[in-house]
Amino acid sequence: MAYTFVTIPGSGIVPGDVLKRLPGVRVVSADPVDPAFPHSQTLHMADGSLYFIDPAQEYVVAREMEDPFHTNVLVVGPTRTADDRAFLEGYAVDVAEQTGTVATYALHNDYSVTDFDAVYVVGTATKLRDANGLVLIAEALVAGMPVYDSANPQEAGHCVCGLGQNVQPLRDERGDIQCFECAGLTLGCAHCGEYSDVEELEIVKRGNTFSPVHSTCIAEARKAHPRVKIVTV
Ligand SMILES: [Zn+2]
Ligand SMILES: [Zn+2]
Repeated sequence: MAYTFVTIPGSGIVPGDVLKRLPGVRVVSADPVDPAFPHSQTLHMADGSLYFIDPAQEYVVAREMEDPFHTNVLVVGPTRTADDRAFLEGYAVDVAEQTGTVATYALHNDYSVTDFDAVYVVGTATKLRDANGLVLIAEALVAGMPVYDSANPQEAGHCVCGLGQNVQPLRDERGDIQCFECAGLTLGCAHCGEYSDVEELEIVKRGNTFSPVHSTCIAEARKAHPRVKIVTV
């Protein structure tokens, strides 16, 4: 099963959703809102616990998607110096690797932001000084798309399985970092659409775009198209 992160009001949370703040635990049902307490709604969780939300507030949830392989994200950040651009490119690889999405990094603002499903920012959207990035972020916000800041260094770390997490570190109920795979948010191959362990996926570079693909799918593609150069990172 594959999941995509969506930012929705608490009232939009449905059974099956996984709250970003409670990775690995599914929502089973939501109680109706009591008009006497319009800012409190009870969610019944798969582990038997109750979780209280505000229906009017926004939450990030992982939701099972019909067609997760169209999850394309745009990665923006400072591009002024060569170091900035190299860092942005490296961050796009991290995004592809850690979230299982097809990640394109923006070296100019000539992108139609709405062709993408989300925007990942190097640093913090509100602190970004780079003109290109700001234009793209503004467009994304106007279009109501999710915009994710990168984790600050204190939030980043390693999952118990050893995978480094610096893009969107999820926390389990004890506060420990969990990677997407260990949280049950399995990752898919952008080529065949099958799911797999993160370890089985390689990141393929095409222009400014990085896609997670099975190593076995790459081997097959190399056999089928021997003249085509497939670049992996
Ligand atoms: Zn893990
Ligand atoms: Zn594959």
